Amino acid sequence: QYSPVTVLGLGAMGRALAVRFVTAGVPTTVWNRTPGRDAEAAAAGAVPAATAGAAARGGELIVTVLLDHASVHETLDPIAAELAGKQWLNLTSTSPEQSRELAAWAAARGIDFLDGGIMAVPAMIGGPGSSILYSGSDSVFQAQRQTLELLGSAEYFGSDPGLAALWDFALLSSMYAMFGGFFQGAALMGTAGVTASEFATRATAWVAAMTQSLPAFAKIIDGGDYTADVFQDLVFTKSALDALRGAAADAGVTFEPLGGLAALVDRQIEAGHGADAFERTVEELRATTSSR
Ligand code: NDP
Repeated sequence: QYSPVTVLGLGAMGRALAVRFVTAGVPTTVWNRTPGRDAEAAAAGAVPAATAGAAARGGELIVTVLLDHASVHETLDPIAAELAGKQWLNLTSTSPEQSRELAAWAAARGIDFLDGGIMAVPAMIGGPGSSILYSGSDSVFQAQRQTLELLGSAEYFGSDPGLAALWDFALLSSMYAMFGGFFQGAALMGTAGVTASEFATRATAWVAAMTQSLPAFAKIIDGGDYTADVFQDLVFTKSALDALRGAAADAGVTFEPLGGLAALVDRQIEAGHGADAFERTVEELRATTSSR
């Protein structure tokens, strides 16, 4: 059956994970920094612990679901001795480099480390749409697979502890850009008295239809030839984005959500790539350092 699990952190996500574990029959111990936030998990059958150290003693698999990388160290550094020989799953959103740092910290203390990126919101945990991406210790993933599957589909991306976070952050990058575009569209339509809800009904179908282009874009990016079979070149894209910028200005709405993309397109044209495909923008991203 399931080995005992400890959940450290009972925010919205930690509570959802703990309740899912308990209701599936996993012996679960819980802890939260601020007392009193364990009521929901305790009512479901989890064992509340007064300290993180006491909680860690109750589990073979220790799950951290805290705010950020710093809060993980703040919580685990003082109890590292309790964790030696245990399996640790970090579900706190950390960058790839931060996940690698946690893996090195764990390795130096005899802790078996698996990192995970949750592709779900709390209400989705345990449901059909929930997916969690894992990388790091293969032995933790294999040993705990049945327990992990309780939360959502479990996919393992290999031993590099930063890879799950890289997938997670790349997917979130696509998501936030899409949300930014939606907000821009909603602001534009608002200037004509169209509600965001009304806009959303059309935007949902449009964005969903446009996602069908991604595999074709990807094929060109992976092939690395931006000059053959050009569907929309950079000059065409520039004129489209300039028109959007003008319409935003006319409506008194900022163009910021799309401004970064427009700047990338402009730079490529200045460098003489105007006839190349829009997909060449990936090369401009690769060539541009993070200081911009
Ligand atoms: P919440 O803000 O609801 O909870 C944050 C948790 O972190 C609380 O338990 C809080 O404890 C704890 N915490 C914060 N700082 C510290 C600290 N210094 N020491 C100890 N504990 C600390 O966030 P969520 O539960 O929603 O998210 C948790 C993690 O899951 C995040 O990394 C988030 O990115 C990730 N995640 C969340 C998703 C979501 O939709 N919610 C989706 C995917 C990932 P206290 O009660 O004491 O403040």
